[in-house]
Amino acid sequence: MISSDPKQDFSVSCMQFDALTKLPNRAFLVNTIQSSIAFSEELEGLISLFLIHFDALDRFNDVFGIDVDERIMLALSENIQEIIGADALLARVGNYQLAIVQDNLQTPQCAERLAKQLQHLFSEPLSIDANLFYITASIGISLYPLDAPDAYTLLKTAENTMQRVKKEGKNLYAFTRSFSNALYEEQVRLMQDLPAAIENGELYFAYQCQYSNAQGRCIGAEMLARWNHPVYGNVPPAHFIPLAEQSGMIGPLTIKALIDASQMFKKLEAAGRSDISLSINISPVFLMTRDFIDTVRFMVESYELGGRRLNFEITEELLLHYPEQLFETFEILRGMNIGIEIDDFGTGYTSLKYLTDMPVDRLKIDRSFVRKIDSDRKRRALFRAIVEMAEALEIGVMAEGVETAGENDVIRAFESLSVQGHFIGRPMVASRFLEQIGV
Ligand code: C2E
Ligand code: CA
Ligand code: CA
Repeated sequence: MISSDPKQDFSVSCMQFDALTKLPNRAFLVNTIQSSIAFSEELEGLISLFLIHFDALDRFNDVFGIDVDERIMLALSENIQEIIGADALLARVGNYQLAIVQDNLQTPQCAERLAKQLQHLFSEPLSIDANLFYITASIGISLYPLDAPDAYTLLKTAENTMQRVKKEGKNLYAFTRSFSNALYEEQVRLMQDLPAAIENGELYFAYQCQYSNAQGRCIGAEMLARWNHPVYGNVPPAHFIPLAEQSGMIGPLTIKALIDASQMFKKLEAAGRSDISLSINISPVFLMTRDFIDTVRFMVESYELGGRRLNFEITEELLLHYPEQLFETFEILRGMNIGIEIDDFGTGYTSLKYLTDMPVDRLKIDRSFVRKIDSDRKRRALFRAIVEMAEALEIGVMAEGVETAGENDVIRAFESLSVQGHFIGRPMVASRFLEQIGV
């Protein structure tokens, strides 16, 4: 059973609580889900995880004072605590994010009941010091064991679902699995087809050139997964990567990427091009599995990847939540001669403090900072600040998603930068990529 008062556990350090709300933090939450999972084997109930994201609370600060976002978070967490009572655990998992875990549920509908209560709560304005605040939220709900086999993946799938809700902007909440419609059927079919697709080549990797301003040439490529499904056609990775994560296939998919990378390196070397690097996207779900390092080491040794220019792209989001664990992992990867790149940099509010200590080789500045950089002075200033900071820390920088000549003109002025985007080249099949770089 979930203890609603984790402070009773004296072995828990204060590192596991949020200073403002006094709620347990993400690490504590993951531990709690892990023990609930251990219990659930006896109880046979479902565990639900709600991930609640509040939109841009800092927008109120300009008008109502610098700490009003924090006071709103405090009020929201108190209100939610009141609804869930002692049967569930509330945690603060991000700046404007809370999570709720309930265990021992008999059906998914039990979780829906709580979702409806939250919907009611957020439909009314929040009153603080005689001011009314209209809060918008997005909630992703995942269920163990239906959506994920372990605590970390459960959290990740709830986050993916929350992002989907946020993007669609229509409903307040969604379940990771919808329990009735055609979308669900398609998801099940895709999930079933995924293992064979990885084996038979339906799933393959496209290569997108990474261009160095200083050298004036393509210095490497990012490998991007593509799935040409016989019924559904080209399924976007944003759709099938989460399915691979949920179904335990993200490991095999990454292994396939490593095998393809090894073959590509050999082709490049045969043509005298050992100067080209290859970057593989590493899902946080795979990275957080216990045998991640062993799997990578095995692959590096078996496929002779150690002496080659291999990079792993890891999203910024992870850095924020698991800095100590990642530090160790990055050091080991670097020991295997693998470069570490922080993907989607700028989207996850990483504090600079993490970067100063982290063994990181390159930041990939997210394309939201690059878009319209030629016409927007503020964006340009922000971009310059990130580049200067990275340079001070002796970390390389790449700009992602450069689409127009105007954007590229601005980016080109930064000597030290590398660039990736449609303006330089779209992701292409291996043979075309080789052709493009003159192999
Ligand atoms: P990402 O790692 O940020 O990859 C860059 C995405 O931006 C790719 O989308 C790429 O096609 C797209 N892109 C490149 N240049 C431009 C541009 O100029 N403008 C715009 N609008 N987009 C551009 P894609 O291939 O659809 O991949 C989406 C995401 O799926 C990736 O984002 C990555 O998070 C994930 N993904 C793709 N392949 C893999 C994989 O093999 N493993 C894992 N774990 N994740 C993958
Ligand atoms: Ca990437
Ligand atoms: Ca990216």
